[in-house]
Amino acid sequence: LNIPPRTPGRTRLGVMGGTFDPIHHGHLVAASEVATVFDLDEVVFVPTGEPWQKAGQDVSDAEDRYLMTVVATASNPRFTVSRVDIERHGPTYTIDTLRDLHTQRPEAELFFITGADAMAEILTWKGAEELWRLARFVGVTRPGHVLSAPVGSESVSLLNVPAMAISSTDCRARVAAGKPVWYLVPDGVVQYINKYGLYRGAATDRPPGH
Ligand code: ATP
Ligand code: MG
Repeated sequence: LNIPPRTPGRTRLGVMGGTFDPIHHGHLVAASEVATVFDLDEVVFVPTGEPWQKAGQDVSDAEDRYLMTVVATASNPRFTVSRVDIERHGPTYTIDTLRDLHTQRPEAELFFITGADAMAEILTWKGAEELWRLARFVGVTRPGHVLSAPVGSESVSLLNVPAMAISSTDCRARVAAGKPVWYLVPDGVVQYINKYGLYRGAATDRPPGH
């Protein structure tokens, strides 16, 4: 594992992008582990605006996904949440996320954290070559997916993190089926989901205007 030496005067900022519909312990463990191993000063979670990979799928309101991410990360002094992607119009591309964060935090070295499934698709992302210049990429293991660095990629590190066989898709399906999501997502997120009736399925869709 090649961990670059710290550059004096520069902060090390992890970037955890995701739909977070809802955020779960797989996301949190991955971010925490990368922060420890790469000696990051902070990890910023960035909920997507309109995820282009999920076009045509039913994604929860950005504001609900943002608030669940805030609730889930509030107790960790090194975790923060950014609105850059939900405030930009149009579909979310990682290249825009990294450009915006670089503009806001020019002193920071960026470490983009991505699970094995997303790592496999990275070369299909818009602006793949510029991505390597803007950030170091840290690909983390995820149960059910094979982790490998994309061919021709620079600045990619691969890291084993504790295996959490959890996905947001499974959490949504569990809520829709009336099964518990306790211990898969943080307690505050369970309560948020219940309070606003998220994921209850088409039959009990939220009332218009909610
Ligand atoms: P969905 O099922 O809706 O796609 P998801 O669980 O895959 O949700 P995302 O918001 O799509 O969650 O993922 C955001 C990032 O977190 C991606 O890089 C993904 O690979 C990573 N990730 C998600 N779950 C895990 C996990 N259990 N272990 C490691 N990485 C994960
Ligand atoms: Mg996913």
